[in-house]
Parts: sequence; C-alpha cells; structure tokens
Amino acid sequence: MKKLTYLAFSMFSIVTFAQDVSKERIQTVLSTLASDEMKGREIGTAENENAANYIAKLFKENNLEYCTGNSYLVPFEYKGKTAYNVCGIKKGKADKFLGFSGHFDHIGTSNNPKDNIYNGADDDASGITTLVGIADYFKNKKPEFSMVFMAFNGEEKGMLGSRAISTDKNLDKIYNNMTALFNFEMVATESAFGKNALFMTGDQFSDLDELFNQNAANGLKINPDPYAAQQLFYRSDNVSFVKKKIIAHSFSTVDMTKATHYHNESDDVKIVDFDNLTQIVNNFGKTLEKLSPSNFNPQYNDTVKF
Ligand SMILES: [Zn+2]
Repeated sequence: MKKLTYLAFSMFSIVTFAQDVSKERIQTVLSTLASDEMKGREIGTAENENAANYIAKLFKENNLEYCTGNSYLVPFEYKGKTAYNVCGIKKGKADKFLGFSGHFDHIGTSNNPKDNIYNGADDDASGITTLVGIADYFKNKKPEFSMVFMAFNGEEKGMLGSRAISTDKNLDKIYNNMTALFNFEMVATESAFGKNALFMTGDQFSDLDELFNQNAANGLKINPDPYAAQQLFYRSDNVSFVKKKIIAHSFSTVDMTKATHYHNESDDVKIVDFDNLTQIVNNFGKTLEKLSPSNFNPQYNDTVKF
C-alpha cells in the first residue's frame, strides 16, 4: 500500500508539474526585461538592443526556428538606423499558425530625481514574458498549431515595429497561414474580473473569445473589453494585423480604473502579481494544447473596420 501511494504520488507529480512553467522562470524573464540596466528599453538605445538580444537568447533556449534569414532579429529602419523586432517559430503538427506577440520597447528615462527609469514591468515586459512562457511551455512538445512568437519594437513611438514586421514580405508564408494573433499588452496585475482572467479588445468583432473559452483549461477566462469606448482594438499592435484581415486581438489584465502606474516610473516589478501571471501562462499553454485547426478557426463579423 505504501509503495502504491508513493508510486501514485510520483506519477501525479510528473503529470502535474513536468510541463509547467515555473514562477521563478516568469520572475527571471520579467525582472531582467524590467531591470534598471535596461533603462526603459527605448527604441534607438543600446539597452533596447540588449533587450532584443535577450529575447533572442530566450527563443534560442526554446529551440525556436528563425522566422526569416539567419537570426531571430528582424531589422527595420528607425530614424536612419537599424532597429529590430524579434521573431521565432515553433513548428506544430499543422501548417496553420497561431501568433503570440507583445512589445519589448518602453519609454526610457525621465528627470525624476527619485526614480528616473521607466522600467515598464507591466507595459510590456509582462506581455513578452507571457509569450516567452508559452514558448517555454511547448519547448519539448509538438503543438497542434504551428506557432510564431513576435516581440515588437517601437510600439511606444507609434506601433512602428509591428507595422514594419506585418508588412515584411519575407514573413508572408507565415501570415498567409495565420489563424489568429494573440497580442499581450499589460498582463502583470489582477484584472477587474479577478485572477486567472484577461479581457480581449474588440471582442465584439470576432468569435475568438467564445471559441477559446469553450476549450479553456483550469477556469482561465477571456472576458469582453470593459473599456470598449477607448477603442484599444484599433490602438494596439494587433491593428497592423487587423489591416491584413488576420484575426488579431490584444489581451490584457490592466484595470484602467486604478492603473496609476501606466507610463509612470512606478511601473516596476513590485506591482507584478507573479502568481497570477504564472497561472495565466500555464493555463494558456494547457488551453492551446487542446486547440487545433478543426476546433479553432475564429472569424470576424462584418462590424470590424479593416
Ligand atoms: Zn504597451
């Protein structure tokens, strides 16, 4: 009996924990991106490029393939210089892609004598950590969908990186097969809907949320956009892909009624709910394991403006 219990327990451990992304990993990735050394990751700075290289290193650890060329770094022009988006691919059983994105740039530094670094822990180190976490989750698995992971640059200067990479012809082979893009923007805090929950911008434009929620693991819930009047659907990086008629929404947990840290020096790791973020990442992974081209093919309705 003792033996059996031990065996049952160890099997339980393997099943429960082997595939989970640890809270420590989530903390490491987010804290590195939001560290003072990154000086707010503003596009055009050396620290912005350090952040791009760090994300490329994480993609390499996850055995992702290049999206194009011989690097995860996908160049575009910014003020006469080269800036980079970061892009990696995970091949699944199907040729159809799901995309996962966020922006790694932030707004640099200020003259505040108390704290002059905009660390951007929530905006949007949390989004990058989420997509890296999903890549982690599938490191030793073959998902149904193929997956593309994109870390955009230059969002804070007018969504420059997402616009550049969305119009990069070298990636058309991916875009032509893209079923949907999940863009993560500020997911560090508990949402107005509670823990283990996000909201989706432009939820009225497609059935992605319904299809996702039907398969959602462990109570993970995608809620309607409570701030629809702010038109965030048309004001985030997803919009470059909406223009290509790809199903593309942004996903967030930010409570706009109390998020005083938005574009403030106080957007620091201390505001991050790492337990909630870790739970969201793992439940996203578990949900994505269940999604395939046969049960997940979201469509826009005719109210969306391309
Ligand atoms: Zn942002």
